[in-house]
Amino acid sequence: MSKEVVPKLFRVNTGSCNGCDVEFVATAFVDKFELESLGVELVEHINEANVLVVTGPLTARSEPFLKKYVAQMRKPYAVVGIGTCSVTSGIFRDSYAIEGPTDKIVDVDINVAGCPPRPESIAEGVAKGIKVLQQKLNGEATPKTLDMIFSDFTAPASFRGKIDLNEDMCTACRTCETVCPSGAIEISAVEGGFIHKVWHNSCCFCGNCAYFCPTGAIFNTNSFDTAKTQDEKYSEVNVGHINYETCSCCGENYMPPSRGLLGKAYVHDDVSKLNDAICPACRKEANFKRMYG
Ligand code: SF4
Ligand code: SF4
Ligand code: SF4
Repeated sequence: MSKEVVPKLFRVNTGSCNGCDVEFVATAFVDKFELESLGVELVEHINEANVLVVTGPLTARSEPFLKKYVAQMRKPYAVVGIGTCSVTSGIFRDSYAIEGPTDKIVDVDINVAGCPPRPESIAEGVAKGIKVLQQKLNGEATPKTLDMIFSDFTAPASFRGKIDLNEDMCTACRTCETVCPSGAIEISAVEGGFIHKVWHNSCCFCGNCAYFCPTGAIFNTNSFDTAKTQDEKYSEVNVGHINYETCSCCGENYMPPSRGLLGKAYVHDDVSKLNDAICPACRKEANFKRMYG
């Protein structure tokens, strides 16, 4: 017979700016965010807890306390990292004062990215943490992935959520990579073009990349599906392929201009005709001949 879990939750702040903690409090005390429906009891002593919620990037000062807390928990237990700081150290990743992320020091079961995450994402993370705890309690293998539990939540259209990329608009100019404060974007040259990657677990959803992108290729969606198992931590990546085109005139590879930019520059023209597979050097020569014979 399977044993029923009674989730007793303790929250620890390991250097958070308090943003994640404020969201956690909202999640815990506002009925509509469903934490209560999970039967969670918030406890004041770590030795009563079997679910640990960790916020913050894990500073050097808080590292020994986190280890002590985990050692005192009831077993089995589940650890849920809340916020991009806890998941990957976020914007603080290169600081001398940081020992994190959390999973470097203790075993984490569920990561909830966001800066801070929405209350719905936090509730989702706690629900998944309880599911993992239930499986541990019954001696079952812990899941590598978990479906969304509260799938009926929707965020306003203006919500800055997970990043997406329109490959046809991107010219691999690297502006987004340069302005990203979390180091969440990597653009690498490969044969035939570039690979554009965004790690959702490192992103703090600031929107800098979208703001500075000259072509409008990268943008925040309103998706907040960020509560994932530890096994999914490094697979939560948006991968875009930015390919060279071959010049129909000289046969050289070149990066085609962004359709988005052409559309803005030549509002009255058929953009598909303007971008007729000619490299900039051949286009320049053709224009020179057209103008001066
Ligand atoms: S993830 Fe953002 S809101 Fe949460 S502690 Fe870090 S900086 Fe603050
Ligand atoms: S997404 Fe925008 S800023 Fe980033 S490389 Fe592409 S064009 Fe440049
Ligand atoms: S929103 Fe863009 S710039 Fe900001 S952290 Fe995420 S990927 Fe980086």
